[in-house]
Amino acid sequence: MKIFETHAHLNFKDFNKDREQLLKKCKASGIEYVINIGVDEKTSKNSIDLAKKYDFIYATVGYHPHDAKKFDEKIIRELAKHKKVVAIGEIGLDYYRNLSPKEIQIQVFKKQLEIALDLNLPVVIHDREAHEDCFDILNKYKIKKVVFHCFSGDEIFAEKVIDKGWFISFTGIITYKNSIMENIVRIVPENKFFVETDSPYLSPVPFRGKRNSPLNLRYIIEKISEVKQISPKKVADLSFNNAIDFFNIN
Ligand SMILES: [Zn+2]
Repeated sequence: MKIFETHAHLNFKDFNKDREQLLKKCKASGIEYVINIGVDEKTSKNSIDLAKKYDFIYATVGYHPHDAKKFDEKIIRELAKHKKVVAIGEIGLDYYRNLSPKEIQIQVFKKQLEIALDLNLPVVIHDREAHEDCFDILNKYKIKKVVFHCFSGDEIFAEKVIDKGWFISFTGIITYKNSIMENIVRIVPENKFFVETDSPYLSPVPFRGKRNSPLNLRYIIEKISEVKQISPKKVADLSFNNAIDFFNIN
């Protein structure tokens, strides 16, 4: 089974002790590509470093809404030009934790969308309790390639996102008991979703609460297979091909 990990933070210190071995294991278990995600200046640079070191890893660069206060446009514009940078992200709005003031989050989100437009790059969206604002801003900027990472909206919002031609990405949350995400899995078209772990966070059942890694993608794939009544291999292939197209890999 060929698997594409579309969202991980393998540069984080959680992996300092065993990164090398883990990446070898990932490769051996069928994980063909990994998108490593930046959330600020340091992690964006680290993502690029990781992508330089490993052929099968690609990077994104951007300021997470939590870190919007520290945003430096020049840095992201420069980093985004690296040949292994395949998207701007993760960027967006987080009205749940509001670690940066709302106005700054919006301003920084817009600035980064301009960079994505200028460089013709897709965007990886972090949206927490900010569905309408994220949607309206993306719509206004006419961004074509959009993925809502760790999608957290309801069915009505999912339909709006899908209607725009945007993508929905599923994490281990879909394996949690009583997760309403099952309904989103059911309605998302086969050509509009990816799988991701968001490692080191959001471990799927049966590893909930522990450090996550791309090796756990198979639990997410199995859950989608169950809900959509298609084979795990088909789920992995769909997600794989969707991600290859989206991130423009080769
Ligand atoms: Zn993330």
